[in-house]
Amino acid sequence: MTNEIQMGLMQPHSLLISSLIVHAERHHGDAQIVSRRVEGDVHRYQWHDVARRSRQVARTLDGMTLPLSSRVATLAWNGYRHLELYFGVSGSGRVLHTINPRLHPDQIVWIANHADDQVLCFDISFLPLVQAVHSKCPTIRQYVALCDRDALPVDNGIPGLISYEQWIEPQSDDYDWPQFDENAASSMCYTSGTTGNPKAVMYSHRSTLLHAYGAALPDSMSISARDVILPVVPMFHVNAWGIPYAAALTGASLVFPGPQLDGKSVYELIEQEGVTFAAGVPTVWQMLLDHVKSEGQSFSTLKRTVIGGSACPPSMIQAFREQYNVEVIHAWGMTETSPLGTLCTLKNKSLMLPAEEQTQLRRKQGRALYGIDFKIVGDAGNELPWDGKTFGDLYVKGPWVVRDYFPGQGNAALVDGWFPTGDVATIDADGYLQITDRSKDVIKSGGEWISSIDIENIAMAHPAVQLAACIGVSHPKWEERPVVVVVKRENMTLDKEELLQFYEGKMAKWQIPDDVIFVDAIPLGATGKMLKSRIRQMPEITAYGATEGSRQ
Ligand code: ADP
Repeated sequence: MTNEIQMGLMQPHSLLISSLIVHAERHHGDAQIVSRRVEGDVHRYQWHDVARRSRQVARTLDGMTLPLSSRVATLAWNGYRHLELYFGVSGSGRVLHTINPRLHPDQIVWIANHADDQVLCFDISFLPLVQAVHSKCPTIRQYVALCDRDALPVDNGIPGLISYEQWIEPQSDDYDWPQFDENAASSMCYTSGTTGNPKAVMYSHRSTLLHAYGAALPDSMSISARDVILPVVPMFHVNAWGIPYAAALTGASLVFPGPQLDGKSVYELIEQEGVTFAAGVPTVWQMLLDHVKSEGQSFSTLKRTVIGGSACPPSMIQAFREQYNVEVIHAWGMTETSPLGTLCTLKNKSLMLPAEEQTQLRRKQGRALYGIDFKIVGDAGNELPWDGKTFGDLYVKGPWVVRDYFPGQGNAALVDGWFPTGDVATIDADGYLQITDRSKDVIKSGGEWISSIDIENIAMAHPAVQLAACIGVSHPKWEERPVVVVVKRENMTLDKEELLQFYEGKMAKWQIPDDVIFVDAIPLGATGKMLKSRIRQMPEITAYGATEGSRQ
């Protein structure tokens, strides 16, 4: 008997991003791609145009003799040219580095240098930003403005700046996509770096394709050729949650909002283009709901939305469902998980539950997709039970979870092959994950933990609350106590006593915040999340800490 394993006898095609665009062109080339452009107008074309022009991009990069795996960066909103770069850059064997334009210019410089970016393609609205940083980015040898030839300002101050159209125009679209190892790097994205310098996650073709399959599954985002998808989630952060790839895989149409992310613009696009599915972070949907409510409008085509990136308040899930007949799928993920980790779709047996229990379930972050495994562990590294009550540090693993941060010096700190997420969570017997907090935001009061997310969710259910953030402030007796920082809705009245009363009966007495601090605005990070580190530094909060510190 030989101990050699018999290989399967199937075709060994590599899972490459180029194969997605080849498939999209051949099998659903006429599905629409609609983009609201920076210029203000709406651009329309089809998947076969994306394919043709992404081949021109690939040829252009070859023409520059840009070595394989070189980084091609973007500073761009969601739009069709950005989509062409998704396929043209990665498909040709280079690495697409999407930079978040909302970062501080110093961070953008740091990131561009750290990634060793060679080319930077940017929306013309970011010209002042590029003018400010380009002299500090010595590795970038070609700047490309994502605009028509005649939209390029003369005397722009950037050496060699060329418009995208002029850049790709000389190239024919006759191109054979190169074949290489599916584990090759395809794109990279830096974490938002709320603590310290950002860290670079480098995706592979294989991880991206497996994730695209996962994203399209029915118990995931359920993406199909019948969908018209509006990714409000930016293409500059974690590849718009993989939607561009999943759309190419399935034949879905895409609608890109460009820079206009206010409630009115997003609503108009949804209605005009017949959007069936949209995805984004809670702050964006809050603006949309506010708009729709104030105008007395409804959705005629929108069926479902995936909300994630930070905890989706149950009041939002309910408003979408009950007032607008739109299903909300709550999702959890991170840059390090490509990003989809869990999505909250119900199992058959849960559909038998009374409506209130279903609502309780839907507020959780959901079940693991195949491709992701998770566990919660205690301080001693021991795995904790799945009882829906015990909470611990969340660890994940799988083929689209980070192994190491770029440039690969073992700094992802895997523990026995598991990635420690920095989140604290519970898991119930049916495998539903619920995030309690980021470990650094958990409030420890008298030896017990209080979830800041629970406190925020209750405040958000109050009709006069626009946005709420809960933080822990130090307390001489209890170590820490929660206070809730609130932005009131315009023209509504609310005082501290009323909001504190609103908590009565909704959580244990000792978990109810000690105080309410009203502020004009809550600082949001580059991806639309509340920045707790900045909230703690707000004058209203530091002043509060000083007076409360003496309290017994
Ligand atoms: P960064 O880590 O750079 O801040 P990410 O977009 O990768 O940005 O954020 C991932 C984090 O966002 C998760 O670790 C988690 O703390 C939080 N998060 C994502 N989705 C949810 C959700 N549905 N509920 C609660 N927290 C979430």
